[in-house]
Amino acid sequence: MDRIIYLDHAATTYTKPEVLKEMLPYFTEIYGNPSSVHSYGRETRKALDLARERTAKALNADPAEIIFTSGGTEADNLAIIGTATANKKKGNHIITSSIEHPAALHSCQYLEKNGFQVTYLPVDEYGLIDPQDVKEAIKENTILISIMTANNEIGTIQPVREIGAIAKEKGVLFHTDAVQAVGSIPIDVKDMNIDLLTLSAHKFYGPKGVGALYARKGVRLNHISHGGAQERNRRAGTENLPAIVGLGKAIELATQDIEARNEKLRALRDRLISGILSSVEYTRLNGHPTKRLAGNSNFSFEFIEGEALLLSLDMKGIAASSGSACTSGTLDPSHVLLAIGLPHEIAHGSLRLTLGDENTEEEIDYVLEVLPQIVQRLREMSPLFNQDKGGKIYV
Ligand SMILES: *Cc1c(COP(=O)(O)O)cnc(C)c1O
Repeated sequence: MDRIIYLDHAATTYTKPEVLKEMLPYFTEIYGNPSSVHSYGRETRKALDLARERTAKALNADPAEIIFTSGGTEADNLAIIGTATANKKKGNHIITSSIEHPAALHSCQYLEKNGFQVTYLPVDEYGLIDPQDVKEAIKENTILISIMTANNEIGTIQPVREIGAIAKEKGVLFHTDAVQAVGSIPIDVKDMNIDLLTLSAHKFYGPKGVGALYARKGVRLNHISHGGAQERNRRAGTENLPAIVGLGKAIELATQDIEARNEKLRALRDRLISGILSSVEYTRLNGHPTKRLAGNSNFSFEFIEGEALLLSLDMKGIAASSGSACTSGTLDPSHVLLAIGLPHEIAHGSLRLTLGDENTEEEIDYVLEVLPQIVQRLREMSPLFNQDKGGKIYV
């Protein structure tokens, strides 16, 4: 294989040519500020409105409920910090899970340092949250529940509709980080009782640095940065118009034929999973066997280091991820893998392979050819494996 086999779609995707094509004029020809009253401004305002309509349609929301942001991270911050501070009079308790993305987790930790209480719900061995646990965690002073739709490391899809129904019944706001879910599972904010939802364009073949927060009409939200009155006075700063146009086109494409695309992804993913589990011993699949994103696979290989595995795969032209915080320069094992009960040493030997629309069966077969050899070679160098050969397997 002389080209790179990209299996890191949960980290980011390329921008589809149709998306880029719609963006390009907004850099050079149609550059007015959408807040300007002249004709240039009106033209960009129209483009902004269209992107908002497309985004709303993809979620079954109203265009006025869409706030464009600089990405998923900012949308999570705005949802969690913005609603918490705006609803402080009602209470100061927030419920979230132990496997959220750092954008949500760290927003909660920030609030904890500023007088809020946070309950971090546990997950089961598959990474699932029990809606009953959510219900039992709700107190008099609970103002927000923030649970992700699908996990970025292990792909587990949460029972969002059930959690939404509980939140609605109890009169508590419900936010979901759907960055991994948009374009992969159908989203209907009304049917799912979602009050706030985070999405990010670069996870569904749109550009980086742009995302959106859906905030249901009537949800009180404070600014997290201060300035002009853009986005109906909910997010200050001149709109990143080319990127927003790209988000609008990308979400339209990504939500059009989800089932057909998933069918193809699932077939490739299952070929990859069964191929790896049958050819590499002392290996486990992390995440739920069925309630998982169509493009997600995540494995733990005993006796080896995920980082060494990534480097070896890279040398063979395969772009993968350990799915852990290692990528951010720390050597701590992933908080998600620890939360599903993996011991540290096994969490360290993990590999996330996330598939996308352009992957082929031929690419999967190439991975199935080289990966077992790499694991074998790394294990032969591992003192742990030699001591404990044929020993325990953690499943
Ligand atoms: C990528 C990701 C984010 C962050 O989005 P950015 O646009 O990169 O800031 C947040 N949550 C989840 C689940 C993600 O996968």
